[in-house]
Amino acid sequence: MRRTAAQHTATPEHIAAAPRLVIEHCAIATVDADDTEYTAGHVVIAGDTIEAVGPGPAPGDLPGVTRRIDGTGHLLTPGLVNTHHHFYQWLTRGLATDHNLFDWLSALYPVWGHIDEPMLYQAARGSLAMMARGGVTTAMDHHYVYPRGAGDLTGAVLRAAAETGVRCTLARGSMDLGASDGGLPPDFAVESLDGALQATEEAIDAHHDPAPGAMTQIAVAPCSPFSVSTELLTRAAELARRKGVRLHTHGSETVEEEKFCHERFGMGPTDYFESTGWLGDDVWMAHCVHMNDSDIAAFARSGTGVAHCPSSNARLAAGIARVPDLLAAGVPVGLGVDGTASNESGELHTELRNALLINRLGRHRERALNARQVLRLATHGGARVLGRAAAIGSLEPGKLADVVLWKMDTLAHASIADPVTALVFGAPAPVTLSLVGGAPVAEHGRLVHVDEDALARATRDEAQRLGRLAADA
Ligand SMILES: [Zn+2]
Repeated sequence: MRRTAAQHTATPEHIAAAPRLVIEHCAIATVDADDTEYTAGHVVIAGDTIEAVGPGPAPGDLPGVTRRIDGTGHLLTPGLVNTHHHFYQWLTRGLATDHNLFDWLSALYPVWGHIDEPMLYQAARGSLAMMARGGVTTAMDHHYVYPRGAGDLTGAVLRAAAETGVRCTLARGSMDLGASDGGLPPDFAVESLDGALQATEEAIDAHHDPAPGAMTQIAVAPCSPFSVSTELLTRAAELARRKGVRLHTHGSETVEEEKFCHERFGMGPTDYFESTGWLGDDVWMAHCVHMNDSDIAAFARSGTGVAHCPSSNARLAAGIARVPDLLAAGVPVGLGVDGTASNESGELHTELRNALLINRLGRHRERALNARQVLRLATHGGARVLGRAAAIGSLEPGKLADVVLWKMDTLAHASIADPVTALVFGAPAPVTLSLVGGAPVAEHGRLVHVDEDALARATRDEAQRLGRLAADA
């Protein structure tokens, strides 16, 4: 069932001959460069590709139509793109609920040190299912906990993504700066520098598909300045550029991290990243909360992207990222759930609403972000941040058919006239249909490939097993 980008090299003749799916009579927010919208429009999908988008119904005489969907009462948007997550944390939700980042990490590292392959597989399935049923068509996982003897953790994540049916960027993380070297994680939770780099290179060689519309991509992702040595950061950047893959890490998340960087390196996080080769248009960082004007200018100049994670930033009392200033400077910004140990909901819709609301608490107040800017962050912005904007992130002919049909005519939304306002300001909208490359992954609020009730039991059982192992240690 695993599909590859090879299917997206279809010629115009192949597209013309492919079976067609038509969705019509729905509101459409294309999120193209002009923010084109239709109050009642249509999209024609040929195979895995968008063939046409426009106002009114689709032509009635289109050949090869195998399915025609009446979208009355719905809003059609590009699929949502999640740019920062840690799937394994699905098993440790609801713990250390009143802690800041460093205290929360210190409480959870001893539990995470017992993660193994079967646990990660179910945790990844849970994380992916929660996102896919809520309109996410491209996911990412930043995995950086590799206990010795834990099994094939990379394989577990990629198997879960393929089974769920969504695109996935796996950021192969690492930590090599244990407590005895002045880092935050306990020594048992870190890898050797050479071991981490070698395993990362093996993951790229085995799994990375360079095509923009790939189902699977690998990024190089040392965890953070306080859990990774300077040498690992530097050599990781060299590895990523030698292999032509993207770089990801956490940056400028908390005041404690800023203090750590000043004490240990004599400079703030952004200057430290620049000194290790970590600014560039092939890099994106999670959080970026504590940035001054010169940091933002450095991101803009270099094209470095940001994964904005408002719920996690609030949960861990990290602060409010300066998203309006980042956007005004031209920095690529997407949205991220972050790991579900610091965002128990695990769905990206929460991030749309919270990005809008939390940024209005900052100094730009009511002009900080509007609903359409937030929808752009969640779709095209995320695609840019992941280096996939050529293939996904907007509804335009020639792009891959990653689309979501949101039901907007129920009690939750029917009395809100503007569907984009309803989607962003309102309650999570039910997903009538979510397509990845034209293939359904969620339909009428249910996942197509996953039994949610069985998955709920499996994730509960693995969370309990992890809890027992941690308690007995
Ligand atoms: Zn994170």
